[in-house]
Parts: sequence; C-alpha cells; structure tokens
Amino acid sequence: PVRVRFAPSPTGNLHLGGLRTALLNYLLARKTHGTMILRIEDTDRNRLVPGSVNMLVNALQWAGIDYEEGPSKGGPHAPYAQSERTEIYRSHADQLLENGSAYRCFCSQERLKSVRERSAKAGKPMAYDRHCLSLSKEEIDGSLKANKPFTIRLNTPEGTTVVHDQVYGKVEFNNRTIDDAVLMKSDGFPTYHLANVIDDHLMDITHVLRGEEWLPSTPKHLMLYKAFGWTAPNFVHLPLLLNADKSKLSKRSGDVHLEDYIRRGYLPEAVMNFVALLGWHPNTDQEIFDSKELIEAFSLAQLNNSNAIVTLDKLDWINKQHLLRRASTPTGLQSLVDMLQPIVNATFGKSLVDSQMEYRMKPEYLTGVISTIKDRIRNIQDITNLCSYFFVEPDWKTPEAETFQKKLNKQALSATLSTEYFNGLSNLDNFNANDIKQYIHEFADQHQLKANHVMMATRYAITATKVGAGVADTMEFFRLVTHFTSDNCFST
Ligand code: GLU
Repeated sequence: PVRVRFAPSPTGNLHLGGLRTALLNYLLARKTHGTMILRIEDTDRNRLVPGSVNMLVNALQWAGIDYEEGPSKGGPHAPYAQSERTEIYRSHADQLLENGSAYRCFCSQERLKSVRERSAKAGKPMAYDRHCLSLSKEEIDGSLKANKPFTIRLNTPEGTTVVHDQVYGKVEFNNRTIDDAVLMKSDGFPTYHLANVIDDHLMDITHVLRGEEWLPSTPKHLMLYKAFGWTAPNFVHLPLLLNADKSKLSKRSGDVHLEDYIRRGYLPEAVMNFVALLGWHPNTDQEIFDSKELIEAFSLAQLNNSNAIVTLDKLDWINKQHLLRRASTPTGLQSLVDMLQPIVNATFGKSLVDSQMEYRMKPEYLTGVISTIKDRIRNIQDITNLCSYFFVEPDWKTPEAETFQKKLNKQALSATLSTEYFNGLSNLDNFNANDIKQYIHEFADQHQLKANHVMMATRYAITATKVGAGVADTMEFFRLVTHFTSDNCFST
C-alpha cells in the first residue's frame, strides 16, 4: 500500500511550492487508497518560526488536504514531530558509527572555516577535507574523555550513486563531488538528511514526492539507506516553480504564500486546481477539476520535469470557472454569500446607515447580487471593487464617472435617455431583463440609435460606472429587490 508524507519544516507560512508538494502527495494517497502522513521536520532549531505548525495545519485544512497520521492526529508511528524523536536518531547514528558508515568529527568551527577558505582559494568545491576520518582510536577516546564537542559525518564511499527518479529519470552522481555530510550536530540534534531517511524508513514511506531542490541531496540519502541496509523508497521530484519572467519563485518575491491567496478571495478548489496543474498534466484537455476529479484523473506518469510557470491570469480564470460552478447550486451559492458578507461589511459597513446595511447584508440580497454579476467577475472580491453601486448610492462625482459622462455627452447620448424612454421602461408589463433588453433594442431602432449606446447611457444613469453586471439584469435586480421606481433609479 502506498504511504506518502508531507514533511515541511516549520519555518513560516506555507508557500505555493509547498502546497503543490502537499497536494500531489495527497492526490497519490487518495488515488491509490493509500495513507498520507504529516511530519514536522523541526530539527533545525535556528530556523524555527513560532506558530508555523498551526499555520501549516490550518492551511492544509483550508485547502481540503487531509491526512491520516500526523502531530495532533497520532498514528502507529508517533511522534510525528522530529524534535520528539531525537533518541531514535541518536541510536541509529551509533549504528552507523559502529559499522564504519559514519565517523566523529571533532574539528573546530575555526578549522572548518579555514578548510573552506583554502578550497575556495584553490577553486575546489568547499568540501570537508575528511581530517577526522583517519583519527586513531586513542585520539578519538582522548577527545571523548575531554568532552570535546563533535559532529557525526557520513563516510562517503567511493564510486558513483545513481538516483532513479520517476520524473527526472536516471541521475548519476560522482561520489567524489559529495561532501561528507554532517548527520548529527554537536547539539545532539540530527540534520535533515539523517532524520529524513530514518523517518521515511521507519514510517514505511513508499514514495517521496518533494521539490526538485532536494534532488542533489538524494544521493546522500541513498548512501544512508545502503549504510543501514534498508531499501530506499521511490523518489519523485517535482519541477521548480518559476515566475513569468522565468526567475525562481522564491519566498521573497511577493504573493507566494498561501495566506496571500486566501486573503485575496480565491476559492480553495480553484487554488488546488491551479497548483495541481503546475507540473502535472492530465491526458485530456480538461482544465477545471474539483478535488474529486483531480483524484480521479491523477497519475504519477503524467508528472513532467519542465519547470512550471506560475501565471496569475490562469489562476483568475480557473477561479472564475469554480465560482460559476458554485453559483450553479443552492449550497454553492450560499457558500459564496457567506464569503461575500464579511467583505461587504468590511468595505461598506461604515458608509451605510443601519437600515440599509441590514437590508444589503441579507442573504437574499447578496444572493441576488451574485446571480446578477457572476458572469462578469473572476473573484468574489471583484464585487465590492467593481460594483459598489450594489451597496452604496452611485457616485456620479467620481473622476471615472465624470470622464464617462463627458464621453456620453460628446456622443450626444445622455439625450437618448428621454422622458419617453423612461416612460416606456416603467410601463413594461414585465420588468425583467429580457423584456428590458427587448425594449431597449426597439427604442434604439425607432430612434436610429445603437442599442449598445443606449445601454451605455443607461448604465451611467443607474450605476455611474462603465463596467458591471449586464444593464438589463442590474435594472431587473434593483426593481425587484428594492422596488426602485424609475424615478429614483434614473434621476441623475
Ligand atoms: N523538511 C523538508 C522541507 O522543508 C522536506 C524535504 C523532503 O520532503 O524530503 O521541504
């Protein structure tokens, strides 16, 4: 049975790359009816950021990525935080010392520094010079007796190490280029390499899915598996994420944290859909997937090694598709209303008088707003950004509105909104979008005007903006929900 793990280090917010790793692990687990584990790799005590574990857990929950075993869940291989497993690493490191796969290094920081500087000057890789590999038993015992601090290093064997990666294929490393990695630090904590390998083995991990940046560490891991006499899991490295300009999507260039996307109103299923397509391609043209569909379609064979470019336009487009999907079912629509309510409150809460506020925050009203505007937005936050007129009185005095008015005047369009036009509108038997549209077309024909010009002028009159929901839909909506009469709707 497949067992996979997401093994983040709690060093801050979850970023898009980490989210993709978590998601692909999750998809593989669900697809194969396997098990997903959350393991916290917190042995680098200097890089810990307080609160990160909570943020990670919450982020995974928001995304709908659940797991069977993990820190607060427990499981057969508990504990799942590496800082609680130091005894395990220590006893395993001792095994390696005994069988000669590792050795103690008593070199001081100063000595290591000068070794590095010497290599740098000579243009050689800045590897450890293996000084302590040839210490005699007496020298070692003497240093131990004197309580000299030491690290434990991997004794890199001669030869080559070949990684068979499911995405990158066969990758060969000359062992001479590989440093004798530190496995245990002098503070008694293991390094990433040692803890990661021991835990993957003890937790019966079958597939290691992680970012490409870990590929160069993999030969060290393979040497460790060999040194312990263990079988290595399958390795699946995921291509780098790049910005549109092909630069690395690092934690430093804005909006890489999941938090940013949550704050900007993206739907979880849209973010998941977007992230899944970074490095994975289904066999079909389908681009929109909910999580069930992702699980259905997912296969490791379709992961590829070309670096994936993060294009936010694509995310916006995907978000729009999921927004429309939600809006098409009663429960989905309700969930959008629940999202919109706090946004409206935060944006307009202060500018609305109580009675209006109460009315415009009502689910019925917000449902109407969303139904009217859904085809024209890509994100639920667009509603308050683009269509404030749903919540506060239109403002014909904004620079945007005044420019719009000038344009209408120049084309002599304001005049098209004659009394005759309004009377015709208010006399419609059915004040619904279809009849309104039909009326506008007929009116335009009769007066040799373009229907879209009449629409435009009407839009100005009712919303003071150039963009927004369909004019006829907006009119129907206001008439139905607020019983606007043509007088207060059209008086400018
Ligand atoms: N702790 C590592 C990280 O933060 C895990 C790498 C791995 O999956 O092996 O990404």
